[in-house]
Amino acid sequence: MSETITQKPNIPWEVGVHDAHCHPTDTMATISTIPEMKAATLAIMGTRLEDQDLVAQVARSHPSKVIPSFGYHPWFSHFIQDDRDLDRDGPSEEKEKEDEEEKEKTLKLRHYTAVLTPPPDADFILQLPCPRPLSAVLQELRQHLVEFPHALIGEIGLDRGFRLPHPTVTEGPAGSTPGHRDGRGLTQHRVAISHQKTIFLAQLALAGELKRAVSVHGVQCHGILFDSFREAWAGHEIPRERPKDRKRRRRKTAAGDHEYLPDLAGSDVESDEDEGGEERDEKPKPFPPRICLHSFSAPLETLKQYLAPPTPTKLYPSQLFFSFSSTINARPEKGHLSKIEDTIRTVPDENVLIESDLHTAGGDMDDALEGALRLIVQQKGWDMEHGVRQLDRNWRQFVYGDAE
Ligand SMILES: [Zn+2]
Repeated sequence: MSETITQKPNIPWEVGVHDAHCHPTDTMATISTIPEMKAATLAIMGTRLEDQDLVAQVARSHPSKVIPSFGYHPWFSHFIQDDRDLDRDGPSEEKEKEDEEEKEKTLKLRHYTAVLTPPPDADFILQLPCPRPLSAVLQELRQHLVEFPHALIGEIGLDRGFRLPHPTVTEGPAGSTPGHRDGRGLTQHRVAISHQKTIFLAQLALAGELKRAVSVHGVQCHGILFDSFREAWAGHEIPRERPKDRKRRRRKTAAGDHEYLPDLAGSDVESDEDEGGEERDEKPKPFPPRICLHSFSAPLETLKQYLAPPTPTKLYPSQLFFSFSSTINARPEKGHLSKIEDTIRTVPDENVLIESDLHTAGGDMDDALEGALRLIVQQKGWDMEHGVRQLDRNWRQFVYGDAE
């Protein structure tokens, strides 16, 4: 009788298995294991003030195995103050007279009362750090992105389920990077979704300007997340190729398959749909060219919204990827494996990615990736070699945008 283990196809790791979303900088002691990992590349996410420089540091020391990703997670969005409309009139004399301590106190009370819901009392607020201006945060993100030309922006997004930990509890699990949330007592205070959205859209716009892919977290807010993207995409939808035009690009290859010649951008076929197209090309776009919805667990209906064209003749202008992990998406005890299986089968083959979402590098991360890979290959009905090659192509398209 064959054991399950003998039925498992071998994984051709040498082809390139890539982790589209992970957090090993949460456990810096495991970083030294990265060179021995079977995974070819790790997209390491930044989430908060404490880990942006760590992500850069790990990317510098492991350039061939790490794609760094910089950004602010919704769980840490309240530490950022939208200062873009503030202080237009400059500081008043009255303000100048206030001493620094008073100024900070006033700032904290005003900011956190506005962005937290329900607003905490003053005792609670004064234990929180002074919020950092969004303009400065974006400037720092920009510096990291300029240093790493293939860096992504992430982890960014929206989360309606998240509650603030108690500010007096400052330590996470032993050996974890400060700011880690696990194991800390949670309060009833949440970050207002309008504030999360402000921070999220500002980072999407930076990604649009620098033409970087983003990795997005969305929990308990699938509708709002989709609407936020649509808001950013509005007016930038691209003409959808008509079936007869696609047919015109089709050529038979020597092997007897079909291939598609590159689309002629701005060809006269699209002329009446493309008004203002040149202007659009010059102005930075407020949305990223490529988006990965990580640990994708939205209902099938949400997936179908993303996949459906906005109108019969247009397409959304960002390329969408959906990433799955074995740890979060498919925990059998959570009972949502069968729903995830439907989702995986519905995502087009060229838009699937895999991830570990783990906080430690090393063998556990390889195992988590292997689990995600086997789940996808099984649900897609792919043979292993084909699956790994497809996912490798998808990864390169997501990160570099040049898989063709
Ligand atoms: Zn994550």
